[in-house]
Amino acid sequence: MPWCEPCSKYFAPSAMGDDGSCPQCFAIADMPSAHGSITAKNLDLKKLAAHDEQDIPLPWHFKLLVGALLLYLSWRVIELFR
Ligand SMILES: [Zn+2]
Repeated sequence: MPWCEPCSKYFAPSAMGDDGSCPQCFAIADMPSAHGSITAKNLDLKKLAAHDEQDIPLPWHFKLLVGALLLYLSWRVIELFR
């Protein structure tokens, strides 16, 4: 929902101007357009998310370690009931 900082008010998307401006003070800052939710903030979040995925790769030896740990733990559980 479009929020106008100077007016401290929410406005219906249909009430906004074509360029996303406030119907009362005509400010455009921090307002999503009436035609969608894609804003500069959303794009930045997507870039950050993609960056995080690149920073945390899943190497094959990590998967091997997890697999070995699961085998070990399941063996320990089996041993409990022997
Ligand atoms: Zn306003």
